[in-house]
Amino acid sequence: MADRFFPNEMLDFVSETSTSTSTSTSTTTTTTKDSLTNLLCVPYKTLSDTLKNSAFAIQQTVVNETWGLSGKRVQDYSLYTGALGTAYLVFKAYQFTQNETHLKLRVTFICGRAGVCALGAVLAKHAGDERLLNHYLTQFKEIKLASDLPNELLYGRVGFLWACAFLNKHIGKDTISTTRMRAVVDEIIKAGRRLANKGRCPLMYEWHGKKYWGAAHGLAGIMHVLMDMVLKPDEVEDVKGTLRYMIKNRFPGGNYPSSEGSESDRLVHWCHGAPGITLTLVKAAQVFGDEEFLQAAVDAGEVVWKRGLLKRVGICHGISGNTYVFLALYRLTGKAEYLFRAKAFACFLLDRAQKLISEGKMHGGDRPFSLFEGIGGMAYLFLDMIEPSEAKFPAYEL
Ligand SMILES: [Zn+2]
Repeated sequence: MADRFFPNEMLDFVSETSTSTSTSTSTTTTTTKDSLTNLLCVPYKTLSDTLKNSAFAIQQTVVNETWGLSGKRVQDYSLYTGALGTAYLVFKAYQFTQNETHLKLRVTFICGRAGVCALGAVLAKHAGDERLLNHYLTQFKEIKLASDLPNELLYGRVGFLWACAFLNKHIGKDTISTTRMRAVVDEIIKAGRRLANKGRCPLMYEWHGKKYWGAAHGLAGIMHVLMDMVLKPDEVEDVKGTLRYMIKNRFPGGNYPSSEGSESDRLVHWCHGAPGITLTLVKAAQVFGDEEFLQAAVDAGEVVWKRGLLKRVGICHGISGNTYVFLALYRLTGKAEYLFRAKAFACFLLDRAQKLISEGKMHGGDRPFSLFEGIGGMAYLFLDMIEPSEAKFPAYEL
């Protein structure tokens, strides 16, 4: 079990007031410490500049590798592992550089389904291309959801709803009407109650024959997106009841099973386990204001600190994704301890990831440049570290 993650031997906390500055009169010297410990003692502002430069450099590599500037044909358009993930990273970088030329070159690259149309529309809006914006919005509105569609985030109904919410946030309220979204919410609630069948958990869902709990395919992801929707009082109670059921049935050590009835306490990923569920609990604490969800989020965050320094780099099941747990807890509580934990995980990546990957001691992802599995996600995280109170897990936290 222990070989899934690196033992976390980093300092528990270094306060910003004690971090070294050029004008410091402190007599202590940092030169004898290892490079990671030195990084943890660098003031936040200085560190975020370093992370930004590193992110821009990685972004350039990712663009070159995934957008086939060498003449390769793009075959994977998905946000998870393909060209759309690169577009999402470029959009993030654009928000810091406001370099429109870069953006205009790229928007024509993407065409197709819900996420593609949604991101295409938002990029077109930022590039000031009204015609292209309307093109993508029209395509988006023509999307029909099959009656046998699953409900989960990666391939199902809540993934579509998230794209709607993304459009309404970035293009304007009611870009996608509440009627359109309400019809999908109805389907999701109906399906969840049907499968729960008056069991101990009010809502339950299945994907490929398994009742998953995590963010990617299960309850955490579905509840997360539902909390972004306007819900009726009985639906709110069912969402709360589902989260309470999960908290009550977590493992004794604080982690969460990847699916209903599973007794294997192995995965501490965004996709399966405590990290993705922490983000949902943070959201529940924000939306409902209940102390029980805040406490559960804090508990789950402890699991991520102890077991979340994974031997993988990505957003989905790697250190980059797990760092967002501390950023979310920081946003919720304002506590410097959580910002430090995010800083520590990011510093670990900055200091060691590329080396550990090249030595084969850390997995760089099956698609090594992608947003969700590869260093694309790490670059995205580094950019988010610049404004930590604004940081949001990509394509998940709105
Ligand atoms: Zn994963």
